[in-house]
Amino acid sequence: MTASLHLTHTPAPSPRSIATRMRAHDGAAAAKQAALEEELAARYPLYKRVVEETSDGLVVLDRNAVITFCNPAAAVMFSSTCDDLVGREFGFPLGTLNEPTQVEIFTGGKPSFVEMLATAISWHDQDASLIVLRDVTARREAETLIQMQSRALEASINGIFITDKSGIMLWSNQALAEMSGYAVDEMTGQSIDIFKSGKHAENFYADIWLHLLAGDAWKGRIINRRKDGSLYTAEQTVTPILDATGRLSHFVAIQEDISERLKTQGELVRLAEFDTLTGLPNRHVFMERLQAAIERAQRADAMVAVMMLDIDNFKTINNTLGHSVGDALLVAVSDKIGAIMRTTDTLAHLGGDEFGLVLENVKDMAAASRMMRKILDSFHRSLTIDGHVVEVTASIGIAAYPKDDTEAQALMRQAELAMYQAKAGGRDAFRYFDREMDADIRRRVKLEADLRRAVEGNQLWLAYQPQMDLASNRIVGAEALIRWNHPERGLVSPGEFIPIAEASGLILPIGDWIIEEICRQYQIWQAVGLPALRLGFNVSGVQFRQKNLAHHVTSTLNKAGLSASDLDIEITETVAMERSGRVQENVDLLTAAGVSMSVDDFGTGYSSLSNLQAFPVCRLKVDASFVRGIGQSRDDEKIVEAVIRLGQSLGLTLVAEGVETPEQLQFLRDRGCDEIQGYFISKPLPPEQFRAFTAGFTGPPL
Ligand code: C2E
Ligand code: MG
Ligand code: MG
Repeated sequence: MTASLHLTHTPAPSPRSIATRMRAHDGAAAAKQAALEEELAARYPLYKRVVEETSDGLVVLDRNAVITFCNPAAAVMFSSTCDDLVGREFGFPLGTLNEPTQVEIFTGGKPSFVEMLATAISWHDQDASLIVLRDVTARREAETLIQMQSRALEASINGIFITDKSGIMLWSNQALAEMSGYAVDEMTGQSIDIFKSGKHAENFYADIWLHLLAGDAWKGRIINRRKDGSLYTAEQTVTPILDATGRLSHFVAIQEDISERLKTQGELVRLAEFDTLTGLPNRHVFMERLQAAIERAQRADAMVAVMMLDIDNFKTINNTLGHSVGDALLVAVSDKIGAIMRTTDTLAHLGGDEFGLVLENVKDMAAASRMMRKILDSFHRSLTIDGHVVEVTASIGIAAYPKDDTEAQALMRQAELAMYQAKAGGRDAFRYFDREMDADIRRRVKLEADLRRAVEGNQLWLAYQPQMDLASNRIVGAEALIRWNHPERGLVSPGEFIPIAEASGLILPIGDWIIEEICRQYQIWQAVGLPALRLGFNVSGVQFRQKNLAHHVTSTLNKAGLSASDLDIEITETVAMERSGRVQENVDLLTAAGVSMSVDDFGTGYSSLSNLQAFPVCRLKVDASFVRGIGQSRDDEKIVEAVIRLGQSLGLTLVAEGVETPEQLQFLRDRGCDEIQGYFISKPLPPEQFRAFTAGFTGPPL
């Protein structure tokens, strides 16, 4: 369809006819009119072209809103032809004259938006309307897109702002407001310098500007200041925006507050490397530092001492006074050692109650010894934790580079071995590693293997040590003590193999066997007419922490037809004070079944009176170490007296262990002790000898 076609059907007013509408007033006016008509005639081709080629639709409506003229652009907008359109009713409300309105036109199934501006004109001397139509579909789409984009920017969790090229903020989003503490309105018009924290060197900012002014984006970590003065770290990207001519016009910056993330990362690093309780490096870091120290020593031809320290009886303290006291103790210990060590030394908490120390540039072993002595001495001042006065000692093992080994791992193992030796040797001491210790460990390992076989191979048996009542001078009970006939070594003392049995778990089958063996023995003695005796036996803490201990004891008793009152279980003070669920459960079940319990080695542990009262104990066994002091140490005598008085006040039976002399017996009798056990009456005896001894017993050899 060509423009000329329309014009033939709907002739546009010719320049001449427009001109004729102008009235001439006079001659001069007529001349002016003629000139105007002339000019219009000259311009007509131009106007025609504009009308035909403009992208705006032009429609002329008569008074009845019937289309009397339309240009090609209008025909395109309505997907029609001018032929078709002219003579039809326009159909759209015209709205207010001279004010644009938008209408939606459906052409070819797709809506397009058209902006319409109606003006009143005169057409062929008639009142008419000229409608200018402009397709704004693309503009509307662009506007919607921009709207969505700006919503997205608004809603972004990252802080976003736009500045002019001098860094004055023109726009910012809510997230930035929240991050910085400034309101959006407050920021608008401000320089980005308000965020400066003073934490960066001045050339830091200059550097960013250099980047941006060169047209490059800048990305990096920046510390900003909030309105309230506090700081936050942001990961920030600034992108320069160029205008249509390619000149820098704005910057868009996006920032993410990473302060929290950094904090967690920092904490993770600390957690991975440092012990949270004491704040000391952990085992991992310790090994790294030891390795580094060895390498330095290698180059400098120097010596490094590795020390391992273990708090004596820590488990007991933890179990009796509670974990919070245990924790506080660990902190106090780390402070004690920290105060003694030099700045070049590394102290670490290796876990549990173990601490490690690397001493660099140690002149000689004597220097290391002095240091160890100082540490041990510092422990001798008692600590008050949570209102509890806690007496602690420690055992230390030391190995040295290059004397003992050149490998960090090996040195650690050697220091540990030495530490165990210090413990075995009576605690509160330090020991240097020596080759002998390695042999010792091998012996232990072999002993454990042998013990495994001993259980099945009938190498274990029970000895019975008589207990005499001091009032009646009669044997009223006995303590069963385990014996091991080692095929090569002969009799091995329980002091040597019980700890191994406990550490390896072998104590459990051994413990079960002991109960069965006692019941069997008791039946035999009853059958041969031995007077009724109370049989005591030792039960280790490891057994007490097992679920089925009480059940095994009571069911074995039942099977053998024994009464629970015939038995007495000896437990150490440590176990008696332990308030853990399992121990308590076993104690309750055994008490309910009528089995009595004694506290063994009383006075060597950490019992508190209130704990003792809460425990359903029948007997206190005064530890042999105090009994041994009778007649020799006034302190020991005082302890024995105090323990007897304490037991009496609690209504307990007192049994003194390790009585070897008539003086000791007399002392105990004078103080009101109830029973004694010891070599003075008899050594632990094999069952047959025990029966004979008891049957023929007439009183102590006074
Ligand atoms: P305990 O329960 O305190 O046993 C007393 C220890 O002192 C026994 O050592 C006994 O032989 C010894 N003794 C008794 N009278 C005297 C004396 O007058 N002078 C001296 N010097 N010693 C005396 P034994 O049999 O070597 O047992 C040592 C420890 O091994 C026991 O101490 C006990 O803790 C443990 N033990 C022994 N048998 C068993 C057992 O069957 N099971 C468990 N779990 N531990 C046991
Ligand atoms: Mg005992
Ligand atoms: Mg004892």
